[in-house]
Amino acid sequence: MTDIQSTGGKCPSCGSPISNYNKASTDYGTPIRTCKRCGQPYLDRRYRELAFEEPWASDLKASTGVKTALMGLFILAVSVGFNLLTLHFRGYYYKKMAFVSILSLLVIGYGIFDAIRVKTGAKAKSIEKKRADSEQRLSDRAYAQQLADLGYNVPDKYL
Ligand SMILES: [Zn+2]
Repeated sequence: MTDIQSTGGKCPSCGSPISNYNKASTDYGTPIRTCKRCGQPYLDRRYRELAFEEPWASDLKASTGVKTALMGLFILAVSVGFNLLTLHFRGYYYKKMAFVSILSLLVIGYGIFDAIRVKTGAKAKSIEKKRADSEQRLSDRAYAQQLADLGYNVPDKYL
């Protein structure tokens, strides 16, 4: 196995943990990554090659942004509610609440912005640009072959 999904976030060659490995995150770009420790290539299946793969389903749903906004709203409510209940409105607690509140407002804003981008088609457009980048990468047969050699399912037309 050469992908970090099957090793639980560790380099398949040397076993050192991949920094900031969050298995829930998804993105586009080359799934071929290089281990900072041993320099060996490995696959990270959180990245998709749009040339021959579909976009992540969650990226095309407005509900994803709505869920993010609701999560931000929930954190805001808990933060404000907790502070109201404990009546710690001065000093440290106040600063902490202000920090969490600003952070949750940013999450709410991002969620709404994301949902609007899905609705207006702006997001689909930016994904199409990434598809063009992917086609560009795959036009290099050596790259396509390396991807296939590492165990990625590359359609024959690129090899
Ligand atoms: Zn390594």
